[in-house]
Amino acid sequence: MLSSVKSKGKPNGKKPAAEEKKLYLEPEYTKSRITDFEFKELVMLPREIDLNEWLASNTTTFFHHINLQYSTISEFCTGESCQTMAVCNTQYYWYDERGKKIKCTAPQYVDFVMSSVQKLVTDEDVFPTKYGKEFPNSFESLVKKICKYLFHVLAHIYSSHFKETLALELHGHLNTLYTHFILFIREFNLVDPKETTIMDDLTEVLCSSSGSSSNGSGNGSSNSAGAQNHVKER
Ligand SMILES: [Zn+2]
Repeated sequence: MLSSVKSKGKPNGKKPAAEEKKLYLEPEYTKSRITDFEFKELVMLPREIDLNEWLASNTTTFFHHINLQYSTISEFCTGESCQTMAVCNTQYYWYDERGKKIKCTAPQYVDFVMSSVQKLVTDEDVFPTKYGKEFPNSFESLVKKICKYLFHVLAHIYSSHFKETLALELHGHLNTLYTHFILFIREFNLVDPKETTIMDDLTEVLCSSSGSSSNGSGNGSSNSAGAQNHVKER
């Protein structure tokens, strides 16, 4: 059941996106993936791998993939088409280093996100790559921050640029990336569920069906969500 959408539409003359039909929820599009891979297992911390190493490498990879996915529609995400960083009826604001709220367009917001994440993941003091170098105490909270902002970018692509993504036939990539990302942040509690509520309708469709391929396409589907050999304690 879909819960009612709180309307926080701003009277800026623009029709709030959520009043329109959410194209990305259409079954013919949600079933499009580039792989049927079992992401639930893929995101789990493998034995013998340090948790921070795992978080660092996955976060860096998601950053590159989400940046790439956004770049496919970036020419359509302009100061005119996206005057604010909107996702459905919610608007996000950027906060500068001093915590001052900055009103910005979506492309500016994404640029703030990508450049600050780029800075962090290439900072040897934050994401150490050299042998024997320790992760900083703030590592986990920084990873959480990065994931929160990357989620905003993904959500913006869905809510404002799904049509263009469809035209490019990249929705299978987007769905796959989103599913993998959501299962990753869930596995390690990296983003407050309240933050992702805004996309729960999509998450439910994409992530609950992940793995058990329902619609035809070959293999006699694996036995439900049974086998869980989760290595949690390390
Ligand atoms: Zn945009």
